[in-house]
Amino acid sequence: QKWVYGFGAGQNDGRAEMRNLLGGKGANLAEMASIGLPVPPGFTITTEVCTYYYQHEKQYPPELQAQMDEALARIEQAVGLRFGDESKPLLVSVRSGARVSMPGMMDTVLNLGLNDRTVEGLAAASGDPRFAWDSYRRFIQMYGSVVLGVDHHRFEEIIEEAKITRGVSEDTALTADDWRQVVAEYKAMVEEVLKQPFPQDPQQQLQGAIGAVFGSWMNQRANTYRRLHDIPADWGTAVNVQAMVFGNMGEDCATGVCFTRDPSTGEDIFYGEYLINAQGEDVVAGIRTPQPMSEARAKPGERSMEAAMPAAYAELVDVRSKLEKHYADMQDIEFTVQQNKLYMLQTRNGKRTAAASLKIAVDMAREGLIDQTEAVRRVAPQSLDQLLHPTLDPKAPRKVLTKGLPASPGAACGVVVFSADEAETRAAKGESVILVRIETSPEDIHGMHAAKGILTTRGGMTSHAAVVARGMGRPCVAGAGGIVVDYHSQQLSAGGQVVQGGETITLDGATGEVFLGAVAMVEPKLSGDFATLMGWADSVRRLKIRANAETPLDADTARKFGAEGIGLCRTEHMFFDPERIGAVRQMIMSESEGGRRDALAKLLPFQRKDFIELFRIMAGLPVTIRLLDPPLHEFLPHREEELAEVADTLGADLATMKRRAADLSEANPMLGHRGCRLGVTYPEIYEMQARAIFEAAIETAKETGKAPVPEIMIPLVAMKKELELTRAQVDKVAKEVFAEAGMTIEYLVGTMIELPRACLTADSIAEAADFFSFGTNDLTQTTFGLSRDDAGKFLPYYVDKGILPKDPFVSLDPDGVGALVRIAKDKGRGVKPDLKLGICGEHGGDPASIAFCESVGLDYVSCSPYRVPVARLAAAQAAL
Ligand code: PEP
Ligand code: MG
Repeated sequence: QKWVYGFGAGQNDGRAEMRNLLGGKGANLAEMASIGLPVPPGFTITTEVCTYYYQHEKQYPPELQAQMDEALARIEQAVGLRFGDESKPLLVSVRSGARVSMPGMMDTVLNLGLNDRTVEGLAAASGDPRFAWDSYRRFIQMYGSVVLGVDHHRFEEIIEEAKITRGVSEDTALTADDWRQVVAEYKAMVEEVLKQPFPQDPQQQLQGAIGAVFGSWMNQRANTYRRLHDIPADWGTAVNVQAMVFGNMGEDCATGVCFTRDPSTGEDIFYGEYLINAQGEDVVAGIRTPQPMSEARAKPGERSMEAAMPAAYAELVDVRSKLEKHYADMQDIEFTVQQNKLYMLQTRNGKRTAAASLKIAVDMAREGLIDQTEAVRRVAPQSLDQLLHPTLDPKAPRKVLTKGLPASPGAACGVVVFSADEAETRAAKGESVILVRIETSPEDIHGMHAAKGILTTRGGMTSHAAVVARGMGRPCVAGAGGIVVDYHSQQLSAGGQVVQGGETITLDGATGEVFLGAVAMVEPKLSGDFATLMGWADSVRRLKIRANAETPLDADTARKFGAEGIGLCRTEHMFFDPERIGAVRQMIMSESEGGRRDALAKLLPFQRKDFIELFRIMAGLPVTIRLLDPPLHEFLPHREEELAEVADTLGADLATMKRRAADLSEANPMLGHRGCRLGVTYPEIYEMQARAIFEAAIETAKETGKAPVPEIMIPLVAMKKELELTRAQVDKVAKEVFAEAGMTIEYLVGTMIELPRACLTADSIAEAADFFSFGTNDLTQTTFGLSRDDAGKFLPYYVDKGILPKDPFVSLDPDGVGALVRIAKDKGRGVKPDLKLGICGEHGGDPASIAFCESVGLDYVSCSPYRVPVARLAAAQAAL
């Protein structure tokens, strides 16, 4: 079996498509080498070796060593140096590379192959002893901390002391001899800590680094990251071993990280940072300030790569366009310039904000790099969420606290917390929090998730906080150096202003500004690229998208977002209004039909007005109105004064009221007297609602000349008889109203399918129904026998332990609930081939569930107004 794939040394065994086997980094190095880009030669140890390693008690496949030796020999030949050679040593980098990039794992060891003798060879060969000794100390430091596990502070202390003794403040002021001394101290310290000398044998160093990469695949941080991102542990990681090139050999050397387009806005400019005379980690470490790539982006005092190294820059610009043409996507690249010669060290599809993702997809389709369908495929539906969220109101008053880097766009407001754990606990209680850290690390991911926004005082646009926040869609201001954070006293200060933990601040991730207190925000614009992409999505989707809405505001929002009707109007939400709740309670507490009818008569005009407004806003689009569903006790007064008030209007005494309230309480209200069971036992309720609907429809028809087609929906039906009975009530009211008005309108009566029995007998129920709407909230609850109101307490544990892949109330369970949906569809359409089918549970806004609905062949999904664009795009992708 082939365990090792070479690249760049005249033979490229891998391709970009082999990412599962070679990891993202390895596959793309091979691809870049094969299209003729300058890639230092190297080889990739496959992810299968990682899997083998964990299946065989951390042993490697027996053929591995020979294959590695051969690959290493090919590198030696290509560059004319030998690994371990004392006069002209080959040095290599060792990097991990999983299928998807994964923080938390061992990342990189550079300069591997240096020891007490090869360092002299490097000094002589390069003619630069300072460079050689600096490289050696970097190697000991990296290898010592990431492979041998020595605390990195121990190394930093030694450098700090060296600087103090020499009376210098910058690393760059240390000489070759200083570094030689630091190396000696490093080695002594490592030996003291590990009770073993620092490994001198390059082969042993290489084994150690490879073992550390594989070992880190199963460390706790990597496990946490995998869990948060649904990455299976058996994917494994690859290891890349590559000839070193040096960005730190002098002023004609550099290293940089950049994006082929702006990852925040999507703008078509070369975006990134580089440093002259530096090695990879210097750019991210934030010790020196990286400089911009293009002269156009350089601020006063900055020196762009374009100005400093015009030849290498021109070559890089050429690589940039080759890469974009080849991958047809925005790339995130790493490069090094060694003595004015450019080398490519990495390329991958760049992470980007939702706004950038949208702009890049639309621009690339216009440029002809991709087609419109591909553009639709490119944008993650969930990410649209970010674009639909507010930004700061430009006119709102504000008090600037400080300014940092605009690391991830969007505005966020919340209380200051200083730890990821606190962010998580306070967010769980419903608070909006801003996580403030000096810098973030992979241990903070859960807190970044929980926070509305992230603020750091250190680190640049490519720092951990910036990259992760952009990926998560959290607004982020990074590197706000004007802020001093004191974790101990739980406060931050900037320019003499002190903010305590728990006080409110506002971030603008688009400008980098931080404000004291809360600043007003405005709704996002839905024009431009957003509208263009949505148009392309609409042209390929089959599923219709409706919204769950009952208030005029929600209905308006839904229309603005492109809803094609209302799929669920929960009429009970209209009953809680202070003007109405009294009449609702009066109705509930009445023990006679007459009393209930009196109370319902008071509600009728309110309901009629509600429906008129909805019909107007939805102008001719379908509106599905569900008759009363929840158990009546949900409307009961909680306080004694309220109970007394109801008693008063009914002319009853408090004791009677209390008894009636007690009568209404149920042990299992969600399985109790609710849904159509109310309509069956108190027909006057549904009669009033039906009357309000028909009168409203007629009034709208008279007023606008266009009659709405109400779709009246009966909830929680388990048996055909229930639907027949309630439907008969509705039809009777329709006749009466039409006679009174002297006109008729079209209407449908259908049912929600939210009980397993309804699915299993859907053929019989369909005979009485004009449509089905799957209420997958209740259907999930009743299929699993899981309370939708309480399961949140332990479902995360189930997901954690892999008992359930996802929370079934968020993403439809295809095997159980989905199987019932399919049965209901088959049985229903078996009886009525064009029975209209929709879904109105929360799942209607979840992309994976929408894909399921497409595969079943439903007619529409209905979701909350803010999810409508997400659903439009997800439905388009499901249809492709
Ligand atoms: C459902 O059960 O899926 C549904 C939409 O109804 P509700 O959430 O109001 O119970
Ligand atoms: Mg329901």
